[in-house]
Amino acid sequence: MADTDFDLIVIGSGPGGYVAAIRAAQLGLKTACVESRETLGGTCLNVGCIPSKALLHASELFEEANHGTLAKWGVNVGKVSLDLDAMHAGRREAVDGLTGGIEFLFKKNKVEWLKGHAKFTGKDAILVAGKSYRARNYVIATGSSVTPLKGVEIDQERIVDSTGALELAKVPGHLVVIGGGVIGLELGSVWRRLGAKVTVVEFLDQILPGMDGEVRKDAARIFKKQGFEIRTSTKVTGAVAGKKGVTLTVEPAKGGDAETIEADMVLVSIGRRPNTNGLDLDKAGIKTNKQGQIEVDHDFRTGVAGIYAIGDVTPGPMLAHKAEDEGIAVAEILAGQIGIVNHEVIPSVVYTYPEIAAVGKTEEEAKAEGHEVKTGKFPMLANSRAKTNRDTDGFVKVVADARTDRVLGVHIIASVAGTMIAQAAQAMEFGATSEDIAYTCHAHPSHSEALKEAAMAVTGKPIHI
Ligand SMILES: Cc1cc2nc3c(=O)[nH]c(=O)nc-3n(C[C@H](O)[C@H](O)[C@H](O)COP(=O)(O)OP(=O)(O)OC[C@H]3O[C@@H](n4cnc5c(N)ncnc54)[C@H](O)[C@@H]3O)c2cc1C
Repeated sequence: MADTDFDLIVIGSGPGGYVAAIRAAQLGLKTACVESRETLGGTCLNVGCIPSKALLHASELFEEANHGTLAKWGVNVGKVSLDLDAMHAGRREAVDGLTGGIEFLFKKNKVEWLKGHAKFTGKDAILVAGKSYRARNYVIATGSSVTPLKGVEIDQERIVDSTGALELAKVPGHLVVIGGGVIGLELGSVWRRLGAKVTVVEFLDQILPGMDGEVRKDAARIFKKQGFEIRTSTKVTGAVAGKKGVTLTVEPAKGGDAETIEADMVLVSIGRRPNTNGLDLDKAGIKTNKQGQIEVDHDFRTGVAGIYAIGDVTPGPMLAHKAEDEGIAVAEILAGQIGIVNHEVIPSVVYTYPEIAAVGKTEEEAKAEGHEVKTGKFPMLANSRAKTNRDTDGFVKVVADARTDRVLGVHIIASVAGTMIAQAAQAMEFGATSEDIAYTCHAHPSHSEALKEAAMAVTGKPIHI
């Protein structure tokens, strides 16, 4: 292919796309990245991971000062009040700092930002803002957006999606969250901590689909204790927004009598779908599957020579770090190196309080795949650091193969589960057995000792319980 403008054009600057572009440029490829948003960083930095974590952090501080354990520790504060505008300003500062940081990294690594919406005009050419570009290779990293719900129209006033839920100008009296998955529970936690009554309506019989059964059960118990109302096995069939609020119609998931729920606001968070519309993929000869995703092989090839895809637009968990690792791997492959992502070991974290984290297989999955399984569980209540800090909700569960003792999965509910899971992921990446974790010296007193003890419990020998 002669006369190309770039060695590589990446379409989309989310954690998949921007990381792929930077790594490719580091490896000497002449690289451009197309982004239609005003700022770089994709869903994650603009309306996803970062702004949600800013509000989760801020609302946790508010709740701690307002109803937390400060006084029990002898820290007396005066009357606590909420300045929601300042909280939103803090969120925007985090987003601006990090999206600006990607722009800086693009300049530093000489990645050219092509501003505008990209669409294919052929297998080797795209159009951006009226200009045609050609590249030796393309990486599609266009990410995902909110899945709409039939009968519940998002107006971003009374009925919002996750982006709208990050921007509420006042704390709603009653917020109904449709969907008991990660995003609904995180954003529900934010507004509950700030004073809203939050009802979660979930179609399935338990919240947190895909997570370990024991984790789902205990998480529901903890969230209910915090004041969440959780209605499982319930289907939302319609919503009527008026000046004062929203009337939702719900019925049992398996069918039955309908009833209504009155809410001040509704958050629709039933999932996300891949962004492939408007890319004119057919002109490049690329097909999507039933879910609208672009299927790829082990090396992220789409089946059309020179066109690759990574991140949320491809099958697999919709997670920023999965997209990032794929970005690095695809860039290394394009530079003639070996790029690999081990999709068996992708951690996931729910940033509620306590946090919920997992890596590898759930006990149910491991059994369904034919493994004879041994599990070890250790409650945070018996962990000295958690007990001292009075954050004793949760447990660590290690799922190991009964024959080889190899760790198949780790599941944690703990205040710092998101940090603890990194150790489990690394151990699994190195092919660890539960014995390897049990005989690794862990600092005392630390929450991570609960992982060591859960690993010891696989062979029935924890010390502190
Ligand atoms: C509220 C919320 C919280 C989340 N929290 C977490 C979390 O804590 N941890 C986590 O791992 N994940 C989280 N996620 C998921 C995470 O944001 C995504 O998995 C991640 O952003 C996917 O990265 P990506 O690079 O595939 O795509 P995206 O980040 O979606 O980026 C794709 C980019 O491509 C651009 N684009 C699309 N089409 C075109 C086109 N034709 N031309 C030009 N540009 C185009 C889009 O404008 C977008 O900027 C969260 C998501 C949401 C919504």
